[in-house]
Amino acid sequence: MTIFSKIVRGEIPSYKCAENEEFYAFLDINPVAEGHTLVIPKREEDYLFDLSDEELSRMMVFTKQVAKAIKNAFPCQKVGMAVLGLEVNHAHIHLIPLQNEGDMDFRKPKLQLEATAMQEIAKKIWQEYTNIPK
Ligand code: AMP
Repeated sequence: MTIFSKIVRGEIPSYKCAENEEFYAFLDINPVAEGHTLVIPKREEDYLFDLSDEELSRMMVFTKQVAKAIKNAFPCQKVGMAVLGLEVNHAHIHLIPLQNEGDMDFRKPKLQLEATAMQEIAKKIWQEYTNIPK
């Protein structure tokens, strides 16, 4: 089982940002920017582009809702989207609030945020997510 499946099952804690029946969004624990969020299918699948057209389409709609919530919670120029998947073999999309293109640089030192700060960030995104028309 992947570490992200354990998160979905609640066996490992996470900072929840959004959720529906099929998909889950939570803060990346090593954020490149405040509000850096991961979107995953609850169903375990290694590679994003192995998802069926239908599942990937539904995931993109969910991702769009999460991106809107992030932008409302953390005003930014745009929310960037990246797919890496080199570390965790459970399909996921990175969403990152962008002020400039350097904010998407995964090689730069990650932010060190206290648990309380992470909770606050996740709460803000969750609140915005609940207000997004579905
Ligand atoms: P990659 O597979 O290359 O897209 O990287 C996996 C991402 O998942 C990294 O940005 C990690 O910081 C993040 N990550 C790994 N474990 C956790 C976890 N338990 N909770 C939140 N994010 C995680």
